[in-house]
Amino acid sequence: MIVYELNQADHITRTEGDWSEVTDRVVGRPIWDYVRDAGLVEVYQYLFDKVRQDGAGLSCGYRCDTPSHIQRMRLHIRPLEQRAIQVASEVLERIERPSPVVAISVERGFALALRCSICARYGRSQDWADLAEAAASDWLDTDRPIRVYHGICPDCREGILG
Ligand SMILES: [Zn+2]
Repeated sequence: MIVYELNQADHITRTEGDWSEVTDRVVGRPIWDYVRDAGLVEVYQYLFDKVRQDGAGLSCGYRCDTPSHIQRMRLHIRPLEQRAIQVASEVLERIERPSPVVAISVERGFALALRCSICARYGRSQDWADLAEAAASDWLDTDRPIRVYHGICPDCREGILG
């Protein structure tokens, strides 16, 4: 579990858990130095704002996959004084992928794939599926390298962002 506190400007002021050993290095830095995924930045910003505005904590599940592993995560955010917040992120489940994700052939340009930043499914309009399922479907072109862009699927938008 990674636990950190952010001041009103999203700079790290304190760490606990798995990040306690790196405290000296991360305190004072903006959290955005460590959240690289553009889609996740959007989601985090939305959730941080919501907690600060509502003055109430929330938690939500999301997927944070790597090429070799599927990771189900849970994020807990609660408000502190002066628009500071505490964020705890835990890995609920980490599953090794049975086979490499995407075969790449470079010469034929890119296929665009929309990925949900929260549940990590791929999709278009009403069709959303895990990568393996999506790759087997006719709407995700896996003969070409895939360039991923980020969004939030209709289910997650309804469930989490309200
Ligand atoms: Zn989703």
